[in-house]
Amino acid sequence: MQHTVSPVGIVRSCFKEKFAIPRQPQLAPAARGVLELLPPFDQGDAVQGLEQVSHVWLLFLFHEALEEKPRLKVRPPRLGGNKSMGVFATRATHRPNGIGQSVVRLEGVEPGRLLLSGIDLLDGTPVLDIKPYVPYADSILQATNQMAGAAPEPIAVQWSDTALPQAREHALRLGEPLVALIEQCLAQDPRPAYQVPPPERVYGVRFWDVQVRWHYPAIDTIRVLEVVREA
Ligand code: SAM
Repeated sequence: MQHTVSPVGIVRSCFKEKFAIPRQPQLAPAARGVLELLPPFDQGDAVQGLEQVSHVWLLFLFHEALEEKPRLKVRPPRLGGNKSMGVFATRATHRPNGIGQSVVRLEGVEPGRLLLSGIDLLDGTPVLDIKPYVPYADSILQATNQMAGAAPEPIAVQWSDTALPQAREHALRLGEPLVALIEQCLAQDPRPAYQVPPPERVYGVRFWDVQVRWHYPAIDTIRVLEVVREA
């Protein structure tokens, strides 16, 4: 049986590339975005009552990880990228039907738009459905997961003398919590687990319209070098 689905909206996100997006929602509360609803869901009727909930589930398409041939096994980055697991045992992006799900904070409901935070979604992500989070059913206190029992340990994030004022200036211009966004995302240590970079190696990523560059002065420390606007 085949079934066609179409997006109900598109996410406009702080994350302009896949690198350095947290591996799950809620790890970076300062990660914000807007879900722009598409017709006929943009007229207000479809979101009536949603202002009564604090969080929503988003079902979405991993539109930049779609593949023709389904994988049965994947190598999740959380396990270092060198251990193979059944695809259904993981939250990997490469999966049958390419469907992702994230529970995110609903900051506001506006005509045709939902304001979101704590997202782990790439800019342009097509959203297939939106459902309210139901605390009594969705929060299972005794649930266990031996592969991912707790959030990953954050690593230290330091600022160079130039980078912090740059980040504060861009935060003001954008009206976004950019300093917190950088700290929360880099504390997740975006580098692939198997990489041990020399201190001179510089990494970079784009958040909103700024390029953030950093290096690893020590294996467990990130130092932000600059935050600059680039075309
Ligand atoms: N919370 C979701 C889930 O469990 O289905 C996503 C988990 S997945 C491990 C998170 C990663 O998906 C992010 O780090 C980001 O690199 C990637 N990602 C986010 N949006 C994407 C998109 N539209 N297409 C491809 N990859 C995406």
